[in-house]
Amino acid sequence: MIKAKKKFGQNFLQDQGVLSKIIKAIPNETTPNFIKNVVEIGPGLGDLTFWLLNSGFLLTSYEIDDELVPILNEKFQKEVKEGRFRLINKDANEAWREQQSLSDKPYILVANLPYYVATKMILSALQDELCVGVIAMTQKEVALKFACKGEDSDFSALGVLANLNGSCELLFDVAPECFEPKPKVVSSVLQITKSHELLGEFGLFKNLSEYKNFGEFLKICFSAPRKTLLKNLSSRFDKNLLNQLFLEMNLNTNLRPHESNVALYLEIYKQIKADNERKQQRSNG
Ligand code: SAM
Repeated sequence: MIKAKKKFGQNFLQDQGVLSKIIKAIPNETTPNFIKNVVEIGPGLGDLTFWLLNSGFLLTSYEIDDELVPILNEKFQKEVKEGRFRLINKDANEAWREQQSLSDKPYILVANLPYYVATKMILSALQDELCVGVIAMTQKEVALKFACKGEDSDFSALGVLANLNGSCELLFDVAPECFEPKPKVVSSVLQITKSHELLGEFGLFKNLSEYKNFGEFLKICFSAPRKTLLKNLSSRFDKNLLNQLFLEMNLNTNLRPHESNVALYLEIYKQIKADNERKQQRSNG
């Protein structure tokens, strides 16, 4: 019997009803956005893996725990032989760092994520252009932040990024009793659907470096959540420009960062960027 390892965030999902609900949330042949290629992070003892393979998906799973790998290879030896299952014994974050994507073709990420690193993994999935959608379990507190689209106390940079080129919804909650061992908190299943491109000619940003600049801009906007958005922005950008922008966009100068929304952040960013480019052109003569 394998003992769950805390350092790898191992809480194994045992409830068959919840596993079935996760599978139903993935686009299938009868729904739009169907993609046969699925990537799973952390197959653990293979319960979700079993459901995914039984549903006919082509699956690649990344597992960091060396001890689980022989167990999984034994359990799914038929699917490995048939070329329907590839198990990679690697830290998924390291794979993202090395090759920018967890796959070489478009895929949906389906995972009961290790909670110690769930936020980082969802942010990586958002900027991975081959990842077209995500169905993932996280702590409820984190799921609420990603799913929040604005004008709410849960609204943060995470909500902006998750709803930027598509939408993020909290599908359902999962009680601690559904896992072994039981986590200390309630969990939720999130669905992220990317409906338009993030980078490139037809995307929201020219390239990855511009997307990262937008991420840095959001850090400034939300740096002090209780202060006004204007005050946070003033710590970095020209005050006259900001006053003019707020006036032109008819924004209340007392607006707090969480009282805004995704479209507004994108618009303010674009205006500041355009102003920077104008200044740069002038200084270049
Ligand atoms: N999918 C299984 C389930 O639903 O029962 C296990 C989920 S458990 C919450 C998280 C899994 O992620 C564990 O198997 C753990 O070893 C694995 N894991 C933790 N950190 C990882 C990482 N950085 N890369 C890949 N797998 C990781």
